[in-house]
Amino acid sequence: MAVLEGLEFGKSDFVLLDEVNIEQFMENLKLRFEKARIYTFIGEGVVSVNPYKQMDIYGKEEINAYRGRELYENPPHLYAVADAAYKAMKRRAKDTCIVVSGESGAGKTEASKYIMQYIAAITNPSQRAEVESVKNVLLKSNCVLEAFGNAKTNRNDNSSRFGKYMDINFNFNGDPTGGHINNYLLEKTSNNDRYSHNAVLSALNVIGFSEEEIHSIYRILGTILILGNLQFETDRESVLVVGMGDVSHIAELTSTEPDNVTKSLLYRTVATGGGEVIEKGHSEKEACFGRDAFTKALYERLFGWIVGRINAVIEVKDYNPVLHGKNTVIGVLDIYGFEIFDNNSFEQFCINYCNEKLQQLFIQLILCQEQDEYRREGIIWQHIDYFNNQIIVDLVEQPHKGIISVLDEACLSVGKVTDTVCLESMDVKLGQHPHYTSRKVGQNSTASNRINYILFSLAMQLTQLHPSFLFFPIAVSLYNHREPYYVRCIKPNDIKSPALFDDARCQHQVAYLGLLENVRVRRAGFACRQAYTRFLQRYKMTCENTWPNHLMGTDREAVEAIVTQHGFQDDVAYGHTMLFVRTPKSLFTLEQERAAL
Ligand code: ATP
Ligand code: MG
Repeated sequence: MAVLEGLEFGKSDFVLLDEVNIEQFMENLKLRFEKARIYTFIGEGVVSVNPYKQMDIYGKEEINAYRGRELYENPPHLYAVADAAYKAMKRRAKDTCIVVSGESGAGKTEASKYIMQYIAAITNPSQRAEVESVKNVLLKSNCVLEAFGNAKTNRNDNSSRFGKYMDINFNFNGDPTGGHINNYLLEKTSNNDRYSHNAVLSALNVIGFSEEEIHSIYRILGTILILGNLQFETDRESVLVVGMGDVSHIAELTSTEPDNVTKSLLYRTVATGGGEVIEKGHSEKEACFGRDAFTKALYERLFGWIVGRINAVIEVKDYNPVLHGKNTVIGVLDIYGFEIFDNNSFEQFCINYCNEKLQQLFIQLILCQEQDEYRREGIIWQHIDYFNNQIIVDLVEQPHKGIISVLDEACLSVGKVTDTVCLESMDVKLGQHPHYTSRKVGQNSTASNRINYILFSLAMQLTQLHPSFLFFPIAVSLYNHREPYYVRCIKPNDIKSPALFDDARCQHQVAYLGLLENVRVRRAGFACRQAYTRFLQRYKMTCENTWPNHLMGTDREAVEAIVTQHGFQDDVAYGHTMLFVRTPKSLFTLEQERAAL
């Protein structure tokens, strides 16, 4: 078993802070980062700070240390969370999901990969060939998705420009039988060269893409590259493509005539009032816009097709629940956390709304489901105050008066609504809401209508493109019936340094990730619980009355003897079948004592 951390590394669970306030939280986070302890628990979730250097903590030894263990038996790690989700899935046949959130560059994708690798490593001990092949495809699909979906941005050299959730299906044995990837490309990227051509090619092969399919992918990529670089010029009144060689090249790659290519780039079809259809030439600016839109659409389709193709390979086939038992799922959701910039756009609105929903889910699950269990076990629930963000969720989604409904109405009259009208309508409907701040169109705002721009893109997204707006609520509702586990990622600085903990930047993230709230909600309940028999098995050697065997009437009485001997009787409650422990501190003490024996 891995050695428990000493106190010089700070508190390994934020629930253990003497007081829950931002100062203590930040002090602990910083201390741990400086001591190269990048993970810290909040109950069953983990906070991770991007180390910006290779850490020697993801090897076989660590995997074995975490496998099948309880959370508090080891130092905080992604593996502990992955194992908790896996155990819940296997022991209790629960569908679970691991939500990995944080801002760009905080380490979400890396964390998701380590989680997937861990799950792959601990499953299929008997090395059955068909399970191994499913695992292989699941792991390799990451490489392909990243090669096509990532780009270098100023915030992250390898930024995922798509939101992704990946499901892994398991059979009754706890071995993967397949999976499904859902993704939404947030931003269309030009292709990037970070991924070695050979690695991607080999991944495509492993997944089962045929030679012909791979050839087609390269043809489309070629088209995208040439298209993206096409230039136009205006000669007198007409717009022309610069360099007809490129046009022929595109025609060849797309198996069409050069004339068709030029036509589609330089003209659009319009319906006249009289019902006639005519072709109208683009201006140079329109041609550029059309070229970019076409390139993006092509890229998005290609990406969508690749994902669909991977899904077809990993889809669970021939699963018979009668023969094979319940099919359970672990989902891994790699999603932007709350984002606040100086200038926020519709994208930030969607992302933040989604995160509010996830937070609401967290609160509901922790508080409501926990209360149910307490009731079943005959435990008295003590109410503790915390901020319930339902009120914020209402602000956004309440029927007839939430922000979405105001936008919806405005959508019906795109072109007629102005910023001012829209903002006034919000004032009327939401003016009384305690979290609503009225905004006026700025003095220096030009005659341009930002709202129309937003609405136009919203309408476009809702109707034609892969809808970002729909993705988020869908992602949330999919996770509604699953037991969630959280990994909250923090980016320590903006210069990718392994040595700098930028206090202000980190505190900002802690605030908008709602980490203090998480700790409060966590402390409102009992952080740990364990069946009396299991507790006794693990800790009976720490108490003279229970070692080697207890002579008490029941297991519960024996557990009471251990708890009382260690003096944490005020920190526990006794249920019908299990012991509830308010803070993990008590169990850490027991663990330390056990390890010292
Ligand atoms: P985006 O939202 O832009 O996709 P992200 O949160 O997915 O960002 P990652 O791509 O996972 O961020 O991480 C950014 C970089 O930080 C990685 O390329 C890697 O260099 C470094 N990094 C992140 N996590 C770790 C880790 N656990 N160990 C070492 N380096 C890490
Ligand atoms: Mg990413």
